Amino acid sequence: MAIFERIEDAACGRRRLSLKSPATLESLGEIECASKEDVEAAVAKARAAQPAWAALSVEERINYMLKLRAVILNNAERLVDVVVKETGKPLQDAMIFEVYAACDFITYFCRQAKKVLTEERRSIHGVLRFTKKLRLVYKPLGVVGVISPWNGPFILTANPCVQAMLAGNTVVAKGSEVTPRCAAILEEFCHEAGLPEGVCQVLMGDGETGGALTQSKVDKISFTGSVDTGKRVAAACIEQLIPYTLELGGKDAMIVCADANLEEAVHAALWGSCVNTGHFCCGTERVYVDEAIYDTFCDKVVALAKAVRQGQQHGKDEDLGAVFWDRQLAIIEAHVDDAKARGAKILAGGERNKDLPGLYYPPTVLTDVQEDWDVMQKETFGPIIPIVKFKSIDEAIEKANGTSYGLHGSVWTKDETKGIAIAKRLDTGSVAINDIGMMYGVPTAPFGGVKESGFGSIHGESSLRGYCHVQPIISGKYGGSQTGYPYSEKSYKRMEQFMGFMYKNPIGRLFFG
Ligand code: NAD
Repeated sequence: MAIFERIEDAACGRRRLSLKSPATLESLGEIECASKEDVEAAVAKARAAQPAWAALSVEERINYMLKLRAVILNNAERLVDVVVKETGKPLQDAMIFEVYAACDFITYFCRQAKKVLTEERRSIHGVLRFTKKLRLVYKPLGVVGVISPWNGPFILTANPCVQAMLAGNTVVAKGSEVTPRCAAILEEFCHEAGLPEGVCQVLMGDGETGGALTQSKVDKISFTGSVDTGKRVAAACIEQLIPYTLELGGKDAMIVCADANLEEAVHAALWGSCVNTGHFCCGTERVYVDEAIYDTFCDKVVALAKAVRQGQQHGKDEDLGAVFWDRQLAIIEAHVDDAKARGAKILAGGERNKDLPGLYYPPTVLTDVQEDWDVMQKETFGPIIPIVKFKSIDEAIEKANGTSYGLHGSVWTKDETKGIAIAKRLDTGSVAINDIGMMYGVPTAPFGGVKESGFGSIHGESSLRGYCHVQPIISGKYGGSQTGYPYSEKSYKRMEQFMGFMYKNPIGRLFFG
C-alpha cells in the first residue's frame, strides 16, 4: 500500500502524486510536483527579493523571525494536525519535535544572530597591526536551497530556512514527497508573519524537483536526507562550485556499562529506538550491554516493549505511531526478516502489526545477532532494538565504530569521567552520556556527522556563519600603502635586519613572538 503514488500528469504537464495517511490509509488528496520551470521561477523570485531582505538590519530580520515564532505557536494545533495526518506520529512526538523544537531553535538563533552576524573589528597579528585595521563583514550568500526529508518534515525544513533568512539570504525549500504539506505550511506561516514576498518559498515535489533545485544556480544547498541522495546532491554542488551541508543517516550505538543506572538505560533503549517510530536520525539502532547486566537488561526492555501502546487513529492516545512510509516499512521488514532467517532470537514484536489497517510495526527486540548483518550495519530507521552482549569496553567501542555511519551515540555509566573517555573514542559527530538522541535538540552545539553521516554541521555559532560569506576588509590606520617598487639591495637588507629584530632580538620577540 503506497503512501504516495504517481498519477497521470496534470494538464500543465506537472507530475501529480496522490497521498495517503500511513495511520489510516485514507486518502489525503493530491499534490502537483513543482517542475524544473517552477523551481527556476521560484529561484528567480527569491533572487529578486534578496537584496532588500539583506539590506534590513540584523535586528529587523530577528523581529521577523520572532513574529514567525508567534505564528507557529498560535497555529501549534493546526501544525500538529497536518504533521499527524501525513506521518501518523503520536501527537506528543509532533508537539515536541516539530512545534517546540521550531520555537526553541528560532529563539536560540535570534539570540545568536546579533552576536555572530554583526560586522566586527579584529586586531591584526604581527607587524601589520601598527599600520592596518581589519573588519569582518558577514555577507549573505544569496539564495539558499533547502531539501528536507519526511521524518521531521516541518522542523528539518524550518530550521535551515530560519538560519539562512536570519543571515540575510532568501530561501527556496523543498519538503519530502511523503510529507509535502508539513513543509509547505512554513511558507504560509512566513506570509502570516509578514515576511516580504519571495523571502521564503517552499515547493512541493519529488526527487526530480529536488534535483532541479540543486541545478538551479542557488548559492548553497542545505540537504537533510539519505546517504545515497546526499552523494548526488554533493556531486551537483561540486559541479557548480557552491557550498553545501549534508545531514545524513546514522546507525547510533548505545553502550551500557555494568555500572549504568539500569532503569534509566532500559527506558532509553526502548524510547531511543521507538521515538518518532524509530524514524530519527539520532535514534538508537544498536544496543551493546555489559555481560554482567545483559540478561536483566534484556528482560526489562522486553517487558517495556510489550507494554507499548500502538494503533489509535491519527496518533492519539498511543506511544508508538505508524511507520510513515511503505518504503521504510519494507526496509524494516527486510532487516528483521533477514536477522530471523539467520537465527536471531525475537524477544518482542518481529512482524508487522496486522491488526491495524495502517502501516504499523511494533517495538521489536532482537538478540543473537551478528555484526555483519543488515540490521547491524544498515540504517533500519524503525522501532527495532538489537541487543548485543560485550565482555570489555574495548570490544564495545570497536563494534560501535564498526559501521560506515558516524552520527551520534550514547554511553551509559554512573562514572562521568569513564563515560567521557569512552565518548571520545567513538567515531561519531556527537555523543550523549546517560541520554539518547539529545544532540539535534541542543542548538548551542554544532550538529553533524562524520564518515557517511554527513558533511558540515548545522547548529552552533558556525551554523549561522555557514550561510554567509565572511568578507574581511582591510584598510590603513594612517593612509595607504608605503611599500612597493623600486626594489633594491638596501630594501632587501632592511627586511632581513627587521626579521632578525622580530624573531631573534629579545625586545623584538616581546612584540612579535
Ligand atoms: P531521501 O534522501 O530519500 O530524500 C530526502 C529529500 O531529498 C527528499 O525531499 C527527496 O525528495 C529529495 N531528493 C530525492 N532525490 C533527490 C535528488 N536526486 N536531488 C535532490 N533531492 C532529491 O531521504 P529520506 O528517506 O527522505 O530521509 C530519511 C533519511 O534522512 C535517513 O537516512 C535519515 O537518517 C536522514 N536524516 C538525517 C538527519 C540529520 O540531521 N543527520 C535528520 C533527519 C533525517
